Amino acid sequence: MLVGKVALVTGAGKGIGRAIALALAKEGAVVAVNYQSSREAALETLRLIQEKQGTGEIICCDVSDHEAVRSMVDGLIARYGRLDILVNNAGVARDGLLARMTQEDFSKVIETNLMGTFYTIRYTARQMVRQKEGRIINITSVTGITGNAGQANYAASKAGIIGLTKTAAKELARKGITVNAVAPGFIRTDMAAAVPEQILTKAINTVPMGRIGEPEEVADLVAYLASEKAAYITGQVICIDGGMI
Ligand code: NAP
Repeated sequence: MLVGKVALVTGAGKGIGRAIALALAKEGAVVAVNYQSSREAALETLRLIQEKQGTGEIICCDVSDHEAVRSMVDGLIARYGRLDILVNNAGVARDGLLARMTQEDFSKVIETNLMGTFYTIRYTARQMVRQKEGRIINITSVTGITGNAGQANYAASKAGIIGLTKTAAKELARKGITVNAVAPGFIRTDMAAAVPEQILTKAINTVPMGRIGEPEEVADLVAYLASEKAAYITGQVICIDGGMI
């Protein structure tokens, strides 16, 4: 149970982030639902939390803006007096072949996925160190492990998250803070829906389990890593991909 814990989930208005926010709230955590542009979706996440007697709030913040991240984290700590769980879920993709990829598309993905994860960890870890406990869970991707044609920027950002996770785990282990990464395969969200159907069907055929994963399946793993039961797990990258890699 996560009663008495305060969690921040980035990009929690929809998809995997929403499922994670709901799973943590179900365990009793107060959940801050971060969004950047989808305010209505974030409000719907909050409504779903409250419908199940959970509590939380929505917070608008672009995770690639370090000043905005600082004020989001400081505001949460001022309001609740603590911050126990950070889930870095916000992510974007701007796919294209490497030779034709623009600098803008490469930077956008790195700034959101990797720099955003760095900023939230930097500001949140200070509070967790003071508390002598905390859980940080970063959503990477199997693409960050294997690479994927057409996703140089995305794969680089997700591989960067893995290096960041392992390093933060080592630096924070003696402070009572665990840092892990979750690497999903194909999960049923808007991000997967953006992949042309023919390509997605072909990709799903490469999954040994022969099906796409559900956001709730990723959320259950994240809730486990956030729990007391996962106290001795840190610096790990856990794939949830139906046996893909
Ligand atoms: P999604 O439905 O497209 O949701 C992405 C979320 O990220 C949205 O809530 C969006 O919020 C938020 N976001 C984007 N840029 C942001 C920014 N600058 N600041 C704050 N929030 C921002 O994607 P998803 O499939 O649920 O993906 C969630 C995570 O899982 C991502 O990190 C993704 O890379 C990873 N992942 C997904 C899959 C998959 O198959 N779906 C596989 C592997 C890994 P706004 O709408 O408010 O901008």
